[in-house]
Amino acid sequence: MRRVADRVSRIKGSGIREFFDIAQRMDAVISLGVGEPDFVTPWSIREACIFALEKGYTSYTSNWGLLELREAISDNMYRETGVYYDPEDEILITTGVSEALDLALRAILDPGDEVILHEPSYVSYKPCTIFTGARPVCVATDVKDDFKLCADALRERLTENTKALVLNYPNNPTGAIMGRNDLEAIADIVNERDLLVISDEIYGELTYDGKHTPFSALDGMKERTILLNGFSKAYAMTGWRIGYAMGPKDLIGAMMKIHQYVMLCAPITAQMAALEALRARTEMEQMIEEYNRRRRVMLRGLKEIGLDCFEPKGAFYAFPSITNTGLSSEEFARQLLMRERVVVIPGSVFGACGEGFIRCAYAVSQYELKEAIERMGRFLAGL
Ligand code: PLP
Repeated sequence: MRRVADRVSRIKGSGIREFFDIAQRMDAVISLGVGEPDFVTPWSIREACIFALEKGYTSYTSNWGLLELREAISDNMYRETGVYYDPEDEILITTGVSEALDLALRAILDPGDEVILHEPSYVSYKPCTIFTGARPVCVATDVKDDFKLCADALRERLTENTKALVLNYPNNPTGAIMGRNDLEAIADIVNERDLLVISDEIYGELTYDGKHTPFSALDGMKERTILLNGFSKAYAMTGWRIGYAMGPKDLIGAMMKIHQYVMLCAPITAQMAALEALRARTEMEQMIEEYNRRRRVMLRGLKEIGLDCFEPKGAFYAFPSITNTGLSSEEFARQLLMRERVVVIPGSVFGACGEGFIRCAYAVSQYELKEAIERMGRFLAGL
C-alpha cells in the first residue's frame, strides 16, 4: 500500500528550512536567511492581546472573523487605495496569508487547470498549486527587466487550460515591485483571456519608492482578483498567524466554505491584536524607515565586496548575483555558512531562474548586517 498520496510524496521539503536547521546547530551565526522581522511586535499590539485575555476573550469568532476587524481592514484599504471591499462578505480573516493562499487556490482550481507563477517566487505557490491537482506553469522573470513579470513572457505560456495567475509584488525573493503601468499590461491580458488573479500583497506596505498599487485597483480587476494580505511582515506579527483575503463575493464565499470546515476561525486573540495594529500604525512606519536604512547599508556593502545587486524597492530582501564567483548558488550558500557562519538562501530554491543569485534578508540589525557583509567579503576574498 502506498501510505502517502502521490502528489504529496512528490514534493520536496522547503529549501529555506534546510539551511535554517543547519544554522541552528552552529554558534555565532548571522542569519540573513529567514524572511522574518527581527522586531518584536509593537507593545500596543501585544497589550491589546493581553487585555483581550484578561477580559476573557477566549472563544471562537464568526467564521468570517470579527466584524470589527473586517470593518477596520475595509476602512484602511479604502483610505489607502480607494478600493472598497464590503466587510460583510468580501473580506475573510484567515490564519495568515498562508491559509488564505491555500483557500484561494482550492476555491478556484480543478484538476487539470493551469496556474501561471512568475519565478523566482515564494516557495509555497508551486506545492500549494500541486496539492489542488492543478498544474503550475512557471514564467521566468529576469534581472534585466528588474524582475518584473513581462506581458510577452506571460502571453507565451497561456493555454486554453490557464485559469489563474499568482502575482507577488513587492516580491519575495527579489524585492522587485511593479508600478501601475507595468500592472496594466498584465491586467489587459487577464481581461482578454478571462483569467483570475491571486495577488499576494503581503509586502504591500513595505515599499521604498512610492506607494504600492494593489492589483484590484486597476480597471476591471476587482472582480477578477483575490487579494491576500496579512500582519506578519509589516507589523512584525509572524507568530500570531493572522491574515486576510479580499475579493468578489462569490470567490470569497467559496474560500469561506473551505475555511469554515478546516479552520473554523482565526484565533480571537490574534484578531483583537490585529485590530489594534490597524489603529496604531506609527510603529509600523518606524520599522519601515529602519528597513529602508538597512536596505541602503546592504546595497552599499554588497557593492563594496564586489557582488552586483539589482536595487530592491520593496519587501526586505536583496537578491545579488553570485555568478562571478563561479559557484552555484547552493554551493555558495553552503560554503559561506560553513566558513563564515552567515546564512543566505540559494536563489535556486525560488525556481530554476533563481540560479546564480542568493537571497539576503535585511531584517536584522544594522550592526549584524555590517558584520555579515564583512564576513561575506572575507569569504569572497578567500575563493
Ligand atoms: N507570502 C509571501 C510572499 C511570503 O513571503 C510569506 C512569508 O514569508 C507568506 C506569504 C506567509 O505569510 P503568513 O505569515 O501571513 O502566513
